[in-house]
Amino acid sequence: MTHYQAQDAAHHIHPFTDTAHLNQKGARVITHAEGVYIYDSKGNRILDGMAGLWCVGVGYGREAIVQAVSAQMRELPYYNTFFQTSHPPVIELAARLTSLAPEQMNHVFFTGSGSDANDTILRMVRHFWAAQGQPERQVIISRKNAYHGSTVAGASLGGFSVVHEQGGLPIPGIVHINQPYWYGDGGDLDPNEFGLQRARELESKILELGADKVAAFIGEPIQGAGGVVIPPLTYWPEIERICRKYDILLITDEVITGFGRTGEWFGADYFGIKPDLMTIAKGLTAGYIPMGGVLVSDRVFDVIANHGEFYHGYTYSGHPVACAAALATLNILESENLPQRVKSDIGPYLQERWLKLAEHPLVGEARMLGLVGGIELTPNKTKRAPFKVEKGTVGLICREHSFNNGLVMRHVGDTMIISPPLVISHSEVDELIEKATLTLDQTYAQAK
Ligand code: PLP
Repeated sequence: MTHYQAQDAAHHIHPFTDTAHLNQKGARVITHAEGVYIYDSKGNRILDGMAGLWCVGVGYGREAIVQAVSAQMRELPYYNTFFQTSHPPVIELAARLTSLAPEQMNHVFFTGSGSDANDTILRMVRHFWAAQGQPERQVIISRKNAYHGSTVAGASLGGFSVVHEQGGLPIPGIVHINQPYWYGDGGDLDPNEFGLQRARELESKILELGADKVAAFIGEPIQGAGGVVIPPLTYWPEIERICRKYDILLITDEVITGFGRTGEWFGADYFGIKPDLMTIAKGLTAGYIPMGGVLVSDRVFDVIANHGEFYHGYTYSGHPVACAAALATLNILESENLPQRVKSDIGPYLQERWLKLAEHPLVGEARMLGLVGGIELTPNKTKRAPFKVEKGTVGLICREHSFNNGLVMRHVGDTMIISPPLVISHSEVDELIEKATLTLDQTYAQAK
């Protein structure tokens, strides 16, 4: 281990990491980044197929963000938005964001991350119903294998059983229905039929619980951390129909799908639905400074705003420096037309090549929407079969090969996923595909 790695192993606790396993050889230390590339302390240049953690949409090294952040630090490094105060960057950002968001979203509450934005949502929807004399409307319906963050509410809303097992989660009042994962669960069903079936589980759950007990439904338009589960096109409109039928709030968690990743500004725009609340983070500031938020529709705002004080807020809600980073990021997204670029240029270019990976003997399915995709590894592509070894073993081998080949691909079990920066060039896409193919060949040779 290098000095850095030894110090890291001795003192730094990593998120979502098996520490004993990590410390056998030490962490890869990333020292700098430019464009779509990250560089490690050994001098390796690695194409970042994950845009950090799905966040660096505009790519690394954007001087305009650096300038905006440092100017804001000089001008007003901090002030809060409690106690009837405000400041120019937060005002400007709120107006700008709500003009980009779906038409019903005219309000925004700022947080420090996606996780705490989902905590805000949990409290806000329960307050929304209580304020209207329906305090028993408490339950939030989510999905198995969803990811909504790591705080107590975020992890409870999430649907990972391994997460729930640590710390006595989920908290009361959160239930999970099945996900629209056609490759894993769809069998011989037509994907659109399967999408409808899975959406209708929401209706069954509402009827089982009693509609007067249900506050909201939450879902990621595309499940990211769960393995890039892209729902059939029938799924979301049916979910929306059911929410409206039973007057249940519809929440889309846009932490990954926001800010151009699908080729639209938000995943809800792509799937043609109108949520009541949306969680945002990541691409909002391109990860340069932490920030999250909740976009709030007029319907929810009109109730919250007219029922006294909502006893909720964070020291860093609307942090001026984060707002400056967000404004600069939005400038880039807009001036470089990045959502449109994903929709009509680089998205289709990558999709065409990525979907061809399905021809590889190790791949059972390749899927991609906008610039987010997954491939399912399998020992028997005609049967979508799992490997004989423990789930995730082959995925991990594949991830290691990928890193060593100079490409960040992440694995979720035996699903490989990518979510590259929206600014990735055509030749960088070619490089990504070449490295992914080599990685699959090496993994196949080892897994056979
Ligand atoms: N929601 C979704 C859909 C996410 O993907 C994530 C993070 O990956 C979160 C919430 C949590 O965001 P954060 O890590 O900023 O707390």
